[in-house]
Amino acid sequence: MGPVPNEKRGSLAEQLPPLTDNAAAVESDRCLYCYDAPCTHACPTHIDIPSFIKRIASGNLRGSAQVIYASNLLGATCARVCPVQELCEGACVLGADHKPIAIGRLQRHAMDYARAHHVLPARRGDRTDHRVAVIGAGPAGLSCAGELARYGHTVTIFEKRSMPGGLSTYGIIGLREPMEIALEEARMIAELGVEIQSDRELGKDISMPDLQRDFEAVVLAVGLGRTPQLGIDGEDAIVDGIDFIEASKTGPEQLKIGQNVLVIGAGNTAIDCATIARRLGSGRVTMVYRRTEHEMTCYEHEYRFARDERIEFRFLTQPSRVLLDSERPVGLECLRVELGGPDGSGRPAPTLVTGSEIVLEADQIIKAVGQQKPALVEFLGLRAVSGFIDVDSEFETSIAGVYAIGDCIRSRGAASTVMAVQDGKLAAAAIGRKLMAQPSTTEAR
Ligand SMILES: Cc1cc2nc3c(=O)[nH]c(=O)nc-3n(C[C@H](O)[C@H](O)[C@H](O)COP(=O)(O)OP(=O)(O)OC[C@H]3O[C@@H](n4cnc5c(N)ncnc54)[C@H](O)[C@@H]3O)c2cc1C
Ligand code: SF4
Repeated sequence: MGPVPNEKRGSLAEQLPPLTDNAAAVESDRCLYCYDAPCTHACPTHIDIPSFIKRIASGNLRGSAQVIYASNLLGATCARVCPVQELCEGACVLGADHKPIAIGRLQRHAMDYARAHHVLPARRGDRTDHRVAVIGAGPAGLSCAGELARYGHTVTIFEKRSMPGGLSTYGIIGLREPMEIALEEARMIAELGVEIQSDRELGKDISMPDLQRDFEAVVLAVGLGRTPQLGIDGEDAIVDGIDFIEASKTGPEQLKIGQNVLVIGAGNTAIDCATIARRLGSGRVTMVYRRTEHEMTCYEHEYRFARDERIEFRFLTQPSRVLLDSERPVGLECLRVELGGPDGSGRPAPTLVTGSEIVLEADQIIKAVGQQKPALVEFLGLRAVSGFIDVDSEFETSIAGVYAIGDCIRSRGAASTVMAVQDGKLAAAAIGRKLMAQPSTTEAR
C-alpha cells in the first residue's frame, strides 16, 4: 500500500475550494433553466434550482440566497454535505451527455455570499403569542425552529451538547463540512429570534411535564444514539467511530492515530473514519465488512474516494474477538463469512464458517456500524416503529402536542441531513397551522 500523497496528508480541511465569481458565472451560464426541472424534483427540499442559478448568472447573489432559503434554511450545510451525485446533480439533464451543472458548489457560492453579507431569510408572518419548544439543535431541530420563527412564533431550542449543529458540528468529517459553517448557520437561526439553550438535556435538566406546561407544542429532534455494541470480547479497546470523527474536528492534535488501523463497517461513517486515520498519518487502514462490495451501504462515490485514498477492504469477514496486550489492541480475530438467502434487510444473510478464524494485526480498531435507536422512545413511552419514534402525517407522536422529526423517526431508508431539514420545514408548517387555529394557551402565564 502506497503512502497518502503529500498534499493530502494531515489535511482535513474542506475538500472542494469555493468557486470564484468568474467560475460561478461561467457555470451558471451553462444551465438550461429547464421547465419543471428534474433537479428540483430530485432535491428533497425542492429548492427552485434553475431560479437560484439564474440569479447567480445575473449577479443577484442576494436574490439567489433568498430562493434557497425559501425551501431550505440550512442551504450552506446542504451545499456541502448532500450526496448531490445521487440527488440534484444526478438528475441534471446535462448529466447524460455533458457534465451536470455543479449545483452543490453554486449553492455554496450563494450561501457563502449570504454569510459574508449577512443576508437573513425573509420572514413569513407577524409575531404571534404561540410558544414552541424544540429538543435538539441538529439540522432537523434548527430547520424546524427557524421556520417556526419565520412564521412569527416564539421558539426555544434545548440542546444537550455545549454547541449546536448536531452531527453537522460534531459528526460530519471536516473535509465535507468544517465546524464553523454549522455553527454560523446555527447563529443565523438564532438571529431569526430562536433562543438556543445549550447544555440542557431532556430527561436530565428538563422534564416533559415542564415543557408541556410552558409550551403549546414540543418537537423532538434528538437524532440517534452512539455506535451499538458488537458484543465481542475485548470490545472496550475499540474506539467508537462517531467519537473518533468528533475528536478529529474538536481536537485533531490530541487524536491518537494507529499505524495499522482496522475500521469495522462499510457505510459512509466507516469510510469517514478510515479517511481520517489515513489523512492523519496511519500507514495502513483496512475496512472490515461481513458482506461484499455489492452490499456496502456507502455511496458508490464514497467507495471510489476510499480506494483513491488507498484504503484497503477485507470483505466476508466478521470480527469475533479483540486480541490485547496490556489492554492495548494488537489484533482482531475474525471468522470467514458465507452469504446465503436474503435476510430481514433484503441483503444476503451472512453465515459464519466454523473453524475459519484468522487474525488481522492492528494497533487501533474503530467501529462504525450505525447508531443506536433514540433512547427517548422508552423514557417517554412513545409509540415506536422498529425502535424509531412513530409519527403521523403531521409529524405528531402518540403523545398529543408532541412532534418528532429527523433521524429519530427515519425507520426506513438512509437518513440524511437534507431529509432532516425537510422534516423540520414540513413539521413547522403543520404545527403552525394547528397553533393558528387555536388561541395561545400559554399567553396568560
Ligand atoms: C458520521 C456521520 C456522517 C454523516 N455524513 C453525512 C453526510 O455527509 N451527508 C448527509 O446528508 N448526511 C450525513 N449524515 C447523516 C446526517 O448527519 C443526519 O441525517 C442528520 O444530522 C440528522 O439530523 P437530526 O437533527 O435528526 O439529528 P442530529 O444531527 O443527530 O442532531 C440531534 C441533536 O439532538 C441533541 N439531543 C439528543 N438528545 C437530546 C436530549 N435528550 N435533550 C437535548 N438535546 C438532545 C443532540 O445533541 C444533537 O445535537 C452523517 C451521519 C453520521 C453519523
Ligand atoms: S436539470 Fe440541470 S440544466 Fe436543467 S435546470 Fe437543473 S441544473 Fe439547470
